[in-house]
Amino acid sequence: MPHVCSAYNCSNRSDKTKDITYFRFPLENEKLTQQWVVNMKRDKWYPTKSSFICSMHFEEKSMYFVNERRRLLANAVNAFVERDLQR
Ligand SMILES: [Zn+2]
Repeated sequence: MPHVCSAYNCSNRSDKTKDITYFRFPLENEKLTQQWVVNMKRDKWYPTKSSFICSMHFEEKSMYFVNERRRLLANAVNAFVERDLQR
C-alpha cells in the first residue's frame, strides 16, 4: 500500500513521488498531534495509525537527513497546508 498524504488538497502518494518523505502522526504525543491537526485545517478529522503527511508541509528547518532520508525533529509541527510543489 502506498502512503497517501492526508493534507487538504495534497494528492501526493508514495508511489507517485520521489524526494518526498511521508511521516506518521505523532499519536503517542497527543498534544503535538492536536497541533498538527489544527495546522491541517481540516474539518472533523483526526489521524489514525495509518495516516501520513508528506514532507511538503514542513519547513526545511524542521527536518534533517539520515542516509538521504528526511526525519522530523522532535516537536516539529507542520507549517504549510498547501505549498507550491515547484521550487
Ligand atoms: Zn502532502
